[in-house]
Amino acid sequence: NATGPKSAEFFARAGKVFGDGTTRVTIEKDPIPRYIANGEGAYVTDVDGRRFLDLNGNFTTLIHGHGFKPVADAVAHQINSGSCFANPTEHELALAELICGRVPAIDWLRFVNTGTEAVLFAVKAARAYTGRPAIAKIEGAYHGACDWVEVSQSSTADNWGDPTEPASVPYYRGTPASVLDEVVTLRFNDVEGCRRLLAKNAHRLAAIIIDPTPSRAGLVVPDPEFVEAINTTAREFGILIIADEVLNFRQGYEGASARHGFTPDLITLGKIIGGGLPIGAIGGSREVMSVFGRGEKRPPLPQGGTFSANPLSMVAGLAAMKALDHAAFEHLENLGTRLRHRFASDIARHDAPFTVTGVGSLFRIHPKRLAPRDFREAAMTAVEATVINQLTRIYASEGIIIPNGAAACLSTPMTDADIDHVGDVFADFLSSHQQIYES
Ligand code: PMP
Repeated sequence: NATGPKSAEFFARAGKVFGDGTTRVTIEKDPIPRYIANGEGAYVTDVDGRRFLDLNGNFTTLIHGHGFKPVADAVAHQINSGSCFANPTEHELALAELICGRVPAIDWLRFVNTGTEAVLFAVKAARAYTGRPAIAKIEGAYHGACDWVEVSQSSTADNWGDPTEPASVPYYRGTPASVLDEVVTLRFNDVEGCRRLLAKNAHRLAAIIIDPTPSRAGLVVPDPEFVEAINTTAREFGILIIADEVLNFRQGYEGASARHGFTPDLITLGKIIGGGLPIGAIGGSREVMSVFGRGEKRPPLPQGGTFSANPLSMVAGLAAMKALDHAAFEHLENLGTRLRHRFASDIARHDAPFTVTGVGSLFRIHPKRLAPRDFREAAMTAVEATVINQLTRIYASEGIIIPNGAAACLSTPMTDADIDHVGDVFADFLSSHQQIYES
């Protein structure tokens, strides 16, 4: 266990003020979380003085790593000029202009503070535009904490239901039945099933929300036929496509929909566009975004928020996004390709029961022989989860933080040497720890 005494001391204190010891269910504990003292570039140092290469990056947010100077300078300057106002600032224009200029599907956008909030308003916008109540979503996909998108986010093997018509599974105790009724659950990469279920429910579907490469459902790349089926079926039945790119916008200069061929009406953003400060955004076509108003006193869908477009998030996001030029994306792409190739060749050499999914600066290691194509195939058995736990621990003991069973990410300060270190640890795991994974 790579967690030290100081983290243990903090966690004991935390138990007195936080019921489960943290304030985010996603914080990794094994059995206690690692408290961080500071971060620098691709590395973090914990309160016990141990340094780690960070492949979590606050769940893929920190595309430039920690303490990125352009962001730090912009925030330091802004904080001395005021942190938030009940008036707009020029900074929101600059960040919006950059995003609208890059993403083909975004004519207009609005800022919020988290990805959850972006998804919440995108769902509302789809309802306001179509006048329909329900949404379709992908089984196992994560879209934040809004009631409807939490449906079928994760569940146990006994309640997934018929594979040709997946059940809408509640995520939290007390989910209203009406919420379940308003969600149609689809399987990723299931061309025939998606066409059939979208058509069958078309009269009540405002939108399908889809993450182009859903991380919790396996970080699986969509088949071109699947992309085509979603695009054409949605158009045919007047169902909007909401591409949730909160995580996957980091796949390229124009984002993930453009990379994979989805033609969204609305796109939700977050994470990287805030440069490490809280942010979310909803963007889309002029026509659909018009539901938020075009200057009238009472728009069809009123939207606001105390901290929306706060200048600190705006200047941080602008500094981070400006630095994400074509060269930066090329660097990330090269690092990602190098690492995935390394994993694949070591897995093949050892004929080991592993496979790696991902694209661009993202990857996920699965303790499975076959590459999963959707959530059901990516879901781990108890034995498989143990293998990944052990691997995560070995990584930690070698000075690398890697998310346990979730998408891992690379950042611009990383070098080939960092990547080779990540590859070496895995190669060593394959050759020295067969007893962990060959049972
Ligand atoms: N959508 C996706 C695809 C996400 O990955 C996340 C966060 N991991 C969210 C929405 C929610 O974003 P936030 O945590 O900023 O609310």
